[in-house]
Amino acid sequence: MGRIAPAPALAALALAVVVSLAAASAGPAAAGARVVLLGRSWDGRAIRAVEVGNRSGTPVLVVGCIHGNETGGIAIAHALERVSPRDLDLWIVPVLNPDGVAADTRQNAHGVDLNRNFPWRWRPMSGVYESGPRPLSEREARIARALIVRLHPHLTVWFHQHLDLVWASGGDRRIEKAFARVAGLPYHPMPQLSGSAIAWQNNTLPGTTAFAAELPAGQPSPAAVARYTRAVLAAAHAP
Ligand SMILES: [Zn+2]
Repeated sequence: MGRIAPAPALAALALAVVVSLAAASAGPAAAGARVVLLGRSWDGRAIRAVEVGNRSGTPVLVVGCIHGNETGGIAIAHALERVSPRDLDLWIVPVLNPDGVAADTRQNAHGVDLNRNFPWRWRPMSGVYESGPRPLSEREARIARALIVRLHPHLTVWFHQHLDLVWASGGDRRIEKAFARVAGLPYHPMPQLSGSAIAWQNNTLPGTTAFAAELPAGQPSPAAVARYTRAVLAAAHAP
């Protein structure tokens, strides 16, 4: 897939580079990795992306955590920061919802489920799936949307918990199944949810694929982290 990255966006992105990964993280990072400050949550917490691989390669995005009480994907996101696929421009957002992680809540600091706040068939919902006052009312959702529009990812993987399946809803089934096979997660065609980030990407960026990797409950073991990391790379290279 060709990458869409107009020059002004690249310039803005260059200005947003905050630190080298070596300075930002104690762990070993892939050579050439860089950290980009995407923006801040309602409570002022930084939302960062890490870019590894080849900047002219196929753009792929991985989001480790959108629901703050589903943190199992964060370790996988950090593991992906240490790979350096030479044919992929791999973007990793370990935590899109840092306020939710801090509070151990599904929702953000405004009580909104970010995965119901995207514009595709957005509708008012309340309670656990509170969708916000309007589409993209939430900072964190706007940050994700802006990144996805800019990158035009061939593939976006969103980690969730804890249904223990690949939630496939509108992407390329060959890609979704490649992930499921390597991850060892059952593959399930599922409905496209109103206001979800996945349904929004699959319907507004034709030819791209987004899906949810619903991990089992709890924190993944090191072996599981390695397996899911391989699964992301397999999906990125499928079919
Ligand atoms: Zn979730």
